[in-house]
Amino acid sequence: MDPVQVVRTDGGVMECRECGFRYNHTRAEIADLSEQHLARVGNALNATPHDARGVRLQPKLWSVNAYMAHLVEASGVVLERVQRVATEERPALAWFDENVSVERFGYDGYDADQSWRKLQPTVAEFAAFLRGLPDDAWERLGIHSTAGEVRMSEIAHDMAHELGHHADDIHAIGVERRVPGE
Ligand SMILES: [Zn+2]
Repeated sequence: MDPVQVVRTDGGVMECRECGFRYNHTRAEIADLSEQHLARVGNALNATPHDARGVRLQPKLWSVNAYMAHLVEASGVVLERVQRVATEERPALAWFDENVSVERFGYDGYDADQSWRKLQPTVAEFAAFLRGLPDDAWERLGIHSTAGEVRMSEIAHDMAHELGHHADDIHAIGVERRVPGE
């Protein structure tokens, strides 16, 4: 998640300045929240008319198609990271620039229904993986190329956060036809 958006609060808990998501959940809660937020993404997408899905309301604001393709990519990155942190000793985790992918691959033209079909099994696999972990795995570390040491718990929170945050974005853009946060 964007380090400008997610900041450490006075209490020491990481929090998203935009949607208010807090990084203080248990492993079981993150598995549940990821599934619940996935359902919110699906509801927002279903309520978005097809002819509105590829539209950018502003030049720099992603379309619903782009958000959905981004979620496929980001959820795959998070799943791979938690699996690697669980099985490898302090694995090196490469930074990925979400903005580059959206522009380079032309995500505005990606069929959101197809992205939805890819997103669901990834989140299901993630939730099942978390539920099957031993308790001490939650504190295992990876080495992020820009952020340094990161805990599995922090990486896993990103899944629930990405899904919830972008469910709000998709609902604002696709259903209400407004710029998120305005
Ligand atoms: Zn957020």
